[in-house]
Amino acid sequence: MPEAHPDSKQTIQDNRDYTLFSWSAQAQTNPIHMVGGQGSHFFDGDGHTWLDFSSQLININVGHQHPKVLQAIKDQVDTMCFAGPSFATDVRAELGRKLAEVTGLAKSFFTLGGSEANENAIKMAKLYTGRDKIITRYRSYHGATMGSMSASGDPRRWPVEPGIPGIVRVFDPYMYRPPMGGSAEAWEDGCITHIEEVIQMEGPHTIAAMLVEGITGSNGLLIPPDSYYPRLRALLDKYDILMIDDEVMSGFGRTGKWLATQHYGVTPDIVTCAKGLTSGYMPLGAVIVNQKIADHFENHFLAGGLTYSGHPVSLAAAIANLKVYEEERLFEHTLEMGRHLGQRLEAMKAKYACVGDVRYIGLFSVLELVRDKATKEPLAPFNGTSPEMARLAAHIKSRFVYAYSRFNFLWVCPPLVVTKEELDHGLDVYEEALALVDEMIG
Ligand code: PLP
Repeated sequence: MPEAHPDSKQTIQDNRDYTLFSWSAQAQTNPIHMVGGQGSHFFDGDGHTWLDFSSQLININVGHQHPKVLQAIKDQVDTMCFAGPSFATDVRAELGRKLAEVTGLAKSFFTLGGSEANENAIKMAKLYTGRDKIITRYRSYHGATMGSMSASGDPRRWPVEPGIPGIVRVFDPYMYRPPMGGSAEAWEDGCITHIEEVIQMEGPHTIAAMLVEGITGSNGLLIPPDSYYPRLRALLDKYDILMIDDEVMSGFGRTGKWLATQHYGVTPDIVTCAKGLTSGYMPLGAVIVNQKIADHFENHFLAGGLTYSGHPVSLAAAIANLKVYEEERLFEHTLEMGRHLGQRLEAMKAKYACVGDVRYIGLFSVLELVRDKATKEPLAPFNGTSPEMARLAAHIKSRFVYAYSRFNFLWVCPPLVVTKEELDHGLDVYEEALALVDEMIG
């Protein structure tokens, strides 16, 4: 058991007095004082051990404080802490080569995180094609910088509206709730024919790219039907529109593969990634482009890059992190744990009235909660909360399981190193919470 921190309450107060927390009205923040972690757990200032069922922001894939990643960071700090982005470095060469190998693409442009990766992907697509518009999906999140926030489709974009020009949005492969009504079977076809209609009405010659989350994460984990990506890829090819695959959340092992789109046998033109690239140990993102786009920038100016782009310590952390995935066979483990998780989620759906749908792939999963299974009325309104969702979250928290919930969704996304016992413990706590909700909606 970790020891209690002598000044934990004061530390929380100082955090609140002197810093601003993201995505919050400050008066409503209630931060946990985090003092350390190990594997699937982290420790708070009161001496409690928490099961991290959300891998922080669905990023700490190799778990907390993995010794091999820590050692690589220390070694790089001792060797060379900084090199400007125009210098050649050993780590830049090694990570670039590795990312080309695992994605099947050609060259990487390094960024500080996912939002900036999407900014640059949008910019590169526009520079490469000479076209202005980008298609995105309504239930997508692509980041919190100006361009990526306005490219997002969910309510998090509203504060920056009208945002950058040229964003055109389409509906999602949300098979539990087809956005235009009708059956899931009909929507499997409709969600592609609808995109073609939008392309034709916008003018194919004006559209540079379509930006999609490999598997939509923070808007309810939307797993497309198997035909979706092959059909989308063919559609975009028909009109010479690039496919940008945002794998910031769904990539790097979360679904048991390097990229979620690899489950569907398609290769995007551009991949953006961050989170699981370093498991959060250092800030890093990447835009990985195919050979044609890479060739274009041989003789065309690539306008972009920051002082810290390609930071050697971040690159060293990524290289070590990717080695951990392979050496510890973490993707295989993810798929094995994912099978168990899937069985338990299906059992929960059968047992609890409030579980309308469960969606899972690898260790990327969600429960979609409803008031009534027959009508599918959500347990909380879109972009809102409800007493039932608040009760659910409070119960899980009181049992020191750290969970991500939003609207009527409750995610299960533990680190990829999670054991079966840890997984079962967290799911048992979820079941206690679901039983409480069932009593409330009785
Ligand atoms: N894209 C997706 C799919 C994400 O889930 C996120 C963050 O959650 C981002 C982009 C933004 O990444 P970052 O927070 O590293 O800027």
